[in-house]
Amino acid sequence: MISIDLSGQVAVVTGGSSGIGLATARLLLRAGASVAICGRDEARLREVEGSLADTGKEGEKPLLLAQRCDVLSEEDVSGFEATVRARFGRTDMLVNNAGQGRVSTFANTSDEAWREELELKYFGVIRPTRAFLPLLRASPNPSIVCVNSLLAMQPERHMVATSSARAGLLNLTKSLANELAPERIRVNSILIGIVESGQWRRRFESQAKPGQSWEEWTAALAREKNIPLGRFGRPEEAAQALFYLSTSLSSYTTGSHIEVSGGVARHV
Ligand code: NDP
Repeated sequence: MISIDLSGQVAVVTGGSSGIGLATARLLLRAGASVAICGRDEARLREVEGSLADTGKEGEKPLLLAQRCDVLSEEDVSGFEATVRARFGRTDMLVNNAGQGRVSTFANTSDEAWREELELKYFGVIRPTRAFLPLLRASPNPSIVCVNSLLAMQPERHMVATSSARAGLLNLTKSLANELAPERIRVNSILIGIVESGQWRRRFESQAKPGQSWEEWTAALAREKNIPLGRFGRPEEAAQALFYLSTSLSSYTTGSHIEVSGGVARHV
């Protein structure tokens, strides 16, 4: 079995208070890393802090920092970086995960909605990346991983703005990889299909038929969307790909992506 010891290393996971980000923080803590997470909801961050209190390498206390920070606010992001710098003094891995999708067609996406979506998908990555680059540059083995969506390559009509913004992010990830490779900073992404998480729970609550269970609703959607593996992914399954791309397990991989979609991609 391959095992990796991240003791002494520091990971920053944006949007680490739920879903994929939370599962990633847990994996990194278990491997011995210190982890800083952020989100906008202070109460949820404190709850997560409690739930991760016993997650760490065997016999070691986890070193978790959870700070309120909206990745779209330059001030919040620089405050988050300052706290990470003061508390841990380094950053080796940055996981740009914070965000959510937008359900809308071209016909019903307003200019304002387009701007909001493009701002979230671009600046949700640009601001944390810019803020943490100085610390990453000082790391012996630095990496950046972006959580992206298969929509980047396979757009869907009902998510037109998100699909378009995701394609731009895929392109930006490649540019960052090219620009930062001479500084040994690897930049990769994961393209996910449907992963059970906070945003799908919210859609279930608003869209499920009366009496329909979560299992019935997700199984029906998996059939409707022709997911070859026949189910939604679990946050841990996305987190494992993020873990691989964040750590030296993927030391010769940059400018690349891993699909975590249950086989739903149609291209070869
Ligand atoms: P969740 O809703 O479970 O988690 C999203 C996390 O991001 C929360 O911690 C949330 O905390 C945080 N967040 C959202 N907006 C901001 C913000 N502006 N600043 C800081 N934190 C923020 O969703 P997922 O785990 O599913 O989402 C993770 C990523 O995966 C997102 O980027 C999403 O778009 C992407 N994705 C997910 C898919 C899926 O099927 N689950 C499919 C394709 C992409 P808070 O609300 O407190 O700020």
